Amino acid sequence: MRKITRLALGAAVSAAATAALFAWEAAARRRRGRRSVCTDTRSPADCAGMHAAKVGRIARQLRDRKSKAPVSLRKRAVAHQVPKPHDQRYRDEKIDISDLNAILSIDPVQRICVAEPGVTFFDLVAATMRHRLVPIVVPELKTITVGGAVSGCSIESMSFQYGGFHDTCLEYEVITAKGEVLVCTPDNENKHVFEMIHGSFGTLGVLAKLTFRLVPARPYVRVQYEKYGDVDAYVAAIRGHALRKDVDFMDGIVHSPSELVLSVGRFVDEAPYAHSYYWVKPYYETTRERSEDYLKTPDYFWRYDIGVTNPTPRSPVARFLFGKFFGSTQLLRAGEKLHWLLSTKKPDITLDVFVPARKAREFLEWYAREFRYFPLWCVPYKRVRDYEWISKRWYDAVGDDLFLDLAIYGMSQRADRNYYKLMEDELLAIGGIKTLISHNYYSEEDFWKTWNKENYQRVKARTDPDNVFRDLYTKTCRATMGAEVRHHG
Ligand SMILES: Cc1cc2nc3c(=O)[nH]c(=O)nc-3n(C[C@H](O)[C@H](O)[C@H](O)COP(=O)(O)OP(=O)(O)OC[C@H]3O[C@@H](n4cnc5c(N)ncnc54)[C@H](O)[C@@H]3O)c2cc1C
Repeated sequence: MRKITRLALGAAVSAAATAALFAWEAAARRRRGRRSVCTDTRSPADCAGMHAAKVGRIARQLRDRKSKAPVSLRKRAVAHQVPKPHDQRYRDEKIDISDLNAILSIDPVQRICVAEPGVTFFDLVAATMRHRLVPIVVPELKTITVGGAVSGCSIESMSFQYGGFHDTCLEYEVITAKGEVLVCTPDNENKHVFEMIHGSFGTLGVLAKLTFRLVPARPYVRVQYEKYGDVDAYVAAIRGHALRKDVDFMDGIVHSPSELVLSVGRFVDEAPYAHSYYWVKPYYETTRERSEDYLKTPDYFWRYDIGVTNPTPRSPVARFLFGKFFGSTQLLRAGEKLHWLLSTKKPDITLDVFVPARKAREFLEWYAREFRYFPLWCVPYKRVRDYEWISKRWYDAVGDDLFLDLAIYGMSQRADRNYYKLMEDELLAIGGIKTLISHNYYSEEDFWKTWNKENYQRVKARTDPDNVFRDLYTKTCRATMGAEVRHHG
């Protein structure tokens, strides 16, 4: 009897081990597949054909729809929108774009990549690094996608030179709400669509293919931490580096109004050591403790992936035990799945704002008084050109070529104040912008003081005249908040 039990136990253990091995092998195969480049193994015509078949299916679904109800997109990677309890996207009919995940080609000579929108920056960097190239502006969370970075927003430590990821794009393929496929460049007949796609949050069409530039990379990044005691010195240092172009990367952490760290990075070929920050120690804390650091280039890009300034769990012991299982992707996925558990009345504050650098001191003094919440992530952002999606009124008041993107992660709201609304009102007063990834309380009138209604409506009439994707105000300020108002035209 004992022998039979031993045999059965042995068989069960070896079956489990074999199953685990198969699962591991399958996961590795999927990973390799996601990072492979179509034209490395297939002819350009085959790759074009495979992509066209996917686009054809999505276009057909849109063309054949009878319902007038709004739709949302279903993509494979998690959405990097702050999860909201009553977001209408959880209930909408879906346009399935989850197979638009291929890196179609990399031209290492011209330094140009063509990819479908669902490609994550994590997979993209793995593929481009084989050619010692990287995308320009790599948002710091592993599973942000190229399509999401253009349709939503993207800011990181190369933004002081290049602006956003969309500023490095050369061409978009866009599927309109009626299933028409448009090729959009800055100079062709669809140039207004090209200009307006950024920050349109999927309300002007489905982005189906992107062509964008790459830059040479080296294997490591050396980061040095410059420490400043006041905002004016901090901003002067940022302007100095931007002017001299003496660094490849620049961002920072405002630990408090009198402790501001500027992290300046340079590509290097060799490193005496290389750190990564995926487990116990949150990267942002090291900016206050160290004077310099070396990271492998991909580990530099994902240094904030466990949470920029609010990793969860927080304590070192909990991070040691569970930290490896809780990156930003897992937390956002849990937020999506359990969205009905999230607070409706007083959601935590996670948001980022653009402030003209010349207003940084005024803004931070106000912020320290009203919010009293630090640290903040700070990313200098160059005004590379005046975007068509922002109103002329807003640009007329800016008076600066440099912005600071300042991000708050996970502040609890106090008393009976709506801190989101407080921030929106202050930004309207000083000429800043809050990105739309979070809770938005703008009135429609205030909203269009910053965003450009005329330009938006012109493109909307071309790509989505029946408002199938909702308009920008309704989607980002009403539908995500659980309220719905249909706006036409
Ligand atoms: C907690 C948190 C941390 C963040 N940290 C960073 C950071 O470190 N650096 C940074 O740059 N940004 C950061 N962001 C912002 C993030 O880059 C943007 O929210 C970005 O838009 C997310 O892209 P995504 O791939 O997750 O797309 P999603 O969030 O899924 O999509 C963004 C919007 O674009 C639409 N969309 C997506 N794909 C398409 C498509 N193919 N065609 C048309 N519309 C589409 C969606 O409907 C949605 O409205 C952060 C956001 C959050 C919530």
